[in-house]
Order: sequence, then structure tokens, then C-alpha cells
Amino acid sequence: MNEPKDAIKRVASFEIILTRYLDTEGRPLAALPDGAADPDRVRSMYRSMVRTRAFDKKAVALQRTGQLGTYAACLGQEAVGTAVGMALRADDVYIPAYREYAAQFLRGVSMTEILLYWGGDERGMDYAADSARQDYPLSVPIATHVPHAIGVAYAFRLRKQDRVVLASCGDGATSKGDFYEAVSSAKVWNLPIVFLVTNNQWAISLPRDKQTGAQTLAQKGIAGGIIGQQVDGNDAIATYEILNQAIAAARAGEGPQLVEAITYRLHDHTTADDARRYRSEDEVKAAWARCPIKRLRAYLESQNAWSSADEESLQSEAVAAAESAAQAFTAMEAEPPETIFDHLYAELPTSMHWQREEVAARGPVEGAH
Ligand SMILES: [Mg+2]
Repeated sequence: MNEPKDAIKRVASFEIILTRYLDTEGRPLAALPDGAADPDRVRSMYRSMVRTRAFDKKAVALQRTGQLGTYAACLGQEAVGTAVGMALRADDVYIPAYREYAAQFLRGVSMTEILLYWGGDERGMDYAADSARQDYPLSVPIATHVPHAIGVAYAFRLRKQDRVVLASCGDGATSKGDFYEAVSSAKVWNLPIVFLVTNNQWAISLPRDKQTGAQTLAQKGIAGGIIGQQVDGNDAIATYEILNQAIAAARAGEGPQLVEAITYRLHDHTTADDARRYRSEDEVKAAWARCPIKRLRAYLESQNAWSSADEESLQSEAVAAAESAAQAFTAMEAEPPETIFDHLYAELPTSMHWQREEVAARGPVEGAH
């Protein structure tokens, strides 16, 4: 007769770790990683976050004054985007969802291009900078872009290139089949890809605890063979460090990586939403106390690496950059409306020719961009 130990045994076990270097007041909780040793790099992170916040504010103002279509603000999530933008190499490919402007700006996408995108203008997806030309445009449909990232990573492997794909998505996206399919294929094919889940606690009006019963989103990789990890996404230093490690591992042939960055969406879902209808003021107030910009500034000041004069000049430079991008955007003449048909297919199906002609015949929409 078999011993009980042969009847039941543990065949696998996993753990999910969370990394954080700075507390909410910017005080180091442990020795900082090498990436944070260079004050110039930390200052660059801070500048990126402040510039992005100034842009975000301007974009919301443009929408509120009828000069921009629906816009998805990234308020509170600036550290995640900044870490992505600083960790990727120029020849890597970034496949974003729709709230990662900080990453896109660091990769060379212009503020005007992002405004064009939300203005419904195809030129907002045709990035001029070489470092961003192979990146994908914003993906508003949830998680549909994640399997596309598998194709890009597979192409890198076929070509024997040491390039990495980073695909980011939100907490809600991890409940989609597309996400699981991508995770599963990535591991089977050992692809050079990093999945970044930006957990901002809300999928429009659906809170994290109603989205999934999983204890973490990082563990959603385990079914596909990927041991994910969590990072405090409001700690720019930690997020940069963990993404750097994940990208290096993917580049070294160690296979796909999954990082869940824990953050909070401080703004409404988009300008078409009013978050006051479904979440409490107390919750938002508590989240403001974890603001990534406040945290990194406190750290820099504690190191005597940032002064009020630095802050003043950064703030005015950031506002001016956003203002000038807005002016360039509003001054641009709208493209003809039929251009929406021109970039979806290599050759437009004949069944759509009449639609294109009909739209062209109607001419430009007044006030459109
Ligand atoms: Mg979300």
C-alpha cells in the first residue's frame, strides 16, 4: 500500500513579490538600486513626470473647451509611463494601451501627435520620430493589442534580433481572453516580451475587487508559465528598476516577463466619464497622498538634488511645452474626413469604396481636427 506522502504531494508552488524603494513621503525603504544612483537620471524621471502632467492638464482643458475629442487622462500614472520610456531601448517596440503618454514622449512621440490622435486625426498615429516609428499607436479597444505584440516579438525571434517588445494594458484587460492567449503563446515560444499591467484600480467604473477574485494580477501569468511580479507603480525608481530587469531578462532569452504596476487613476476614466458617481472622495484623497510626483520630488529634495528654483523653471517650461503643442494642434488644418479609410487596409476592399466616396462628397466636418 502506498504511503500517504505518495497519495498527495505538492507539485508546484509560487510566490508573487512586490518591490518598493520609496515610501509615500519619498523616504528610501532600502538601499536604492544602481539605476537611482545617478541624480541626473532621477531628475530626468521627475522632469518627464511633471511635463506629462502639464500636458495632461492642457489636454483636458482643450476637451472641456470643445477643442479636442474625448481624452483619457493619465493623472497619477506618470511614474509608470516614465519608467517604460526610460527603460526601453530606442530600437525596441512599445505597444501601449491609451494612458501612457509619458512613455510615448520619452520615445519621441510629440505632444501635438497625441492631441491629433484624440482629435480624430490619422496623423496622430504617424509618429515622426525614428525611435517611435515602429511603436504601435494607442489602442482603445481593451487587450486586443496584446496578441499583436506576440507577432512583433515572434518576428524579432525569427530575425534573430535582440530587440524586446513591451506591451502595456490595464487591470481590466487582464480579464480578457486576448490577454491570456498572449501570455500562453509568449511562454510556449519563449518570446522577448514584457507584459506590463498598469493596475490603476478601476476599469472605467468597475473596481479592482469586482474585476477579478485573483489576489494579484501578476499571478495571472502563472497559468501560462510566467511568474509575474508587482511593483509600486507610484515609485518611479522601483518601477524603472523592475522594468529594466524584466527587459534585460527578455533580451537575454530568458523568455516573457510580466510586471503588475500598482497605481491609481486620479482622474475620471476619460473626459466622457464622471468618477464621482461611483467612487468616494475619501478614496481619491487617500490616493493623492501616494502621488508619484510628490514622492519623487520629496526624495530629490531630501538628497539636495532639487531646489525651488529648479521646480519653478521646470513648471514654467512644462506649461509652455504643453501650450505650444496645443497651439500647433489647433493651428493645423484638418485632414479630409475620408482619410479614415486610407490606413486601415493595404488595399481598401471594394465593398468600402462607396463609403469612402460618400464621406469624401460630404466634405469636411465643421470644427473638426
Ligand atoms: Mg484600469
